[in-house]
Amino acid sequence: MEKLEMEITTLGQIPPLGVVPKLMHALTIRQDRYGEPSKAFQLEVVPVPDIADDEVLIAVVSAGVNYNSLWACMGYPVNLIEYLKYNGDVTGFHITGSDAAGIVYKIGKNVSNVAVGDEVVIAPIYFDSNDEFIIGGGDPTIAPTAKAWGFETNWGGYAQFCKVKDHQCHIKPKHLTWDEAATYMLSGGTAYSMLYQYIPNNIKKGDVVLIWGGGGGLGVMAIQLALLNGAIPIAVVGNNERKEFCEKLGAKTILRTNYACWGQLQKEDTLPGTQDKWRNAVKGMRKEILLITGGKDPDIVVEHPGEDTLPVSVFLCKKGGMIVTCAGTTGYLGTFDLRYLWLHKKRLQGSHGAKPDEFAKLHQLINENKITPIISEVFDIQNAVEGIQKMYDNKHLPGSIAIRIVNNFQN
Ligand code: NAP
Repeated sequence: MEKLEMEITTLGQIPPLGVVPKLMHALTIRQDRYGEPSKAFQLEVVPVPDIADDEVLIAVVSAGVNYNSLWACMGYPVNLIEYLKYNGDVTGFHITGSDAAGIVYKIGKNVSNVAVGDEVVIAPIYFDSNDEFIIGGGDPTIAPTAKAWGFETNWGGYAQFCKVKDHQCHIKPKHLTWDEAATYMLSGGTAYSMLYQYIPNNIKKGDVVLIWGGGGGLGVMAIQLALLNGAIPIAVVGNNERKEFCEKLGAKTILRTNYACWGQLQKEDTLPGTQDKWRNAVKGMRKEILLITGGKDPDIVVEHPGEDTLPVSVFLCKKGGMIVTCAGTTGYLGTFDLRYLWLHKKRLQGSHGAKPDEFAKLHQLINENKITPIISEVFDIQNAVEGIQKMYDNKHLPGSIAIRIVNNFQN
């Protein structure tokens, strides 16, 4: 039978199953446009990528927006286009997007876990299957070949086609819409790993879990995971809309705008005579937590704002508890008063993404309907930049933003 050839698919459409066009529409970043999303992202026509023997080409139906697209488009803290070039990518552009749901259109000759036509979601951890560190039992998230897919790799979800390693594919939960399916893996997997991985500080029934940015992508997943474990999530939020949203989700809430203990700690905040000013400000917040919990400090603090909140997180954490961080959303210069760490034997734990088995466990919880992806807004790819810019401005609605690539599907 003659093989159908196609130059490109109209935006919003999907080609016949298995027909891979030569070109595709994609939301790209280029170095000369680095800056805010509204400047950095543009729709372009680019070639559909080739795949290696262990790779899968997916027609993206919907993509999830993650904060890492903001780091990528700013070219800071890493110039990722230079990084891609250094790793042999000669395209000169970067297609980001670390969350996606779509249909398998082509598989490499060594791929056996999925077939053309399968509906899949993507776990955003990319590594070589023959990575000796991983084969030897090493943690895949810190393996030599590990990369955040759609961030440290090209050909992410913001395009008509994306490419992934075979091990990244999971069958799409049937009860989810495409947009829901596209938005839970990265933030859900990361939250799962932060809460479950770090024994003996892993989440337990009755634990108090303080969650910064409770209305954000990471936050809504951390709240649900905490509730699932019979823990008490306390979401810290920046406005009343997010407060109401988190309360509806089942969390207790604290409005951070009621306090003034933010930013890097200064020398005077640790010295006799002047230390009480900051300490009293943060004690006010502790008092609110104790009122909420009936006298219990947070067993786990889910940190990511970094510079603005780390001193507070270290202060508020329970003796022997854990502050677990995966980012520096407000800045990287994290400071804290060491006295509260060592004297009270607290643990400051770094966390990044999730291991494949953690993504799989999160995926299972989604399949069992125990955790629900929460969509804030859906944008077409033509106006997706508006949504990404909203996240940059911290004006996005609670939950996760999806970018709809294929429009002519029912859900
Ligand atoms: P998001 O949906 O934009 O949420 C970010 C939240 O940060 C907002 O909801 C906002 O909540 C809060 N925030 C903003 N400024 C703040 C401040 N000054 N103090 C306290 N909170 C503040 O983003 P996300 O997807 O949840 O991601 C959050 C961070 O985690 C990002 O930096 C992202 O890159 C990182 N991340 C890392 C990994 C990893 O594997 N390492 C994975 C996923 C995400 P309020 O304004 O309501 O307080």
